[in-house]
Amino acid sequence: MNIILLGSPASGKGTQADLLSKKLGLYYFQTGKLSRDLAKKDKRIKEIIDGGKLIPEQEMTMHVVDFLKENHSTMGDILFEGFPRFISQYEALKQFLEIKGDDIDAIILLDIGEKEAVRRLSARRTCEKCGEVYNLVTDPPPKGSCKCGGKLIIREDDKPESIKVRFRYYKDNTKKLIDYVDKKGELIRIDGERPIEVIHKDILSKLKGTNAKDN
Ligand code: AMP
Repeated sequence: MNIILLGSPASGKGTQADLLSKKLGLYYFQTGKLSRDLAKKDKRIKEIIDGGKLIPEQEMTMHVVDFLKENHSTMGDILFEGFPRFISQYEALKQFLEIKGDDIDAIILLDIGEKEAVRRLSARRTCEKCGEVYNLVTDPPPKGSCKCGGKLIIREDDKPESIKVRFRYYKDNTKKLIDYVDKKGELIRIDGERPIEVIHKDILSKLKGTNAKDN
């Protein structure tokens, strides 16, 4: 069972992916993390990420396919978050999985409005030390700093200018992918402007009607 989780910036993808992967025993494959790891050794990639831009679509596909080639046999079922963001990435992923005798069993969209997304992003704080993410409104840190004691910062790509760029990329590219899979009848649309637990339960119940129903 492989699942793709789609959604705009701040749609709650990370939170739901975390819950879902733990609940269903899936490998949580987050290309934001893969990209940030690549950025540690590559200044060009760091600049792309910090500016809220996307790594060129084919280049990102290559990194993902390389990662999968190396790790697929031990990953088990996968929850993809952050990839695909383009139709070409979706097709490449499908092709890779099919060659392995595998498939994509469900594509979930966490649907939220842009206003709500911007509101969430401007309240987001990330721990400089361990990477834990908080929201000053919905999930505030215990004492103004992270549980681990680390300092909370605004991630470069959560700054207002970068937020605008991220939304432009989302509208120009990922929305096309969403329409594409929706037309094929493959999209599960979830209202993402509800409490975390309610959304989680809704996703689980909607998955029951799909190929990813072994839960
Ligand atoms: P995220 O945490 O998913 O917002 O990803 C952080 C950054 O990683 C993005 O802003 C991109 O620069 C890069 N990235 C992650 N996934 C992709 C992708 N599928 N295609 C291109 N760039 C990506």
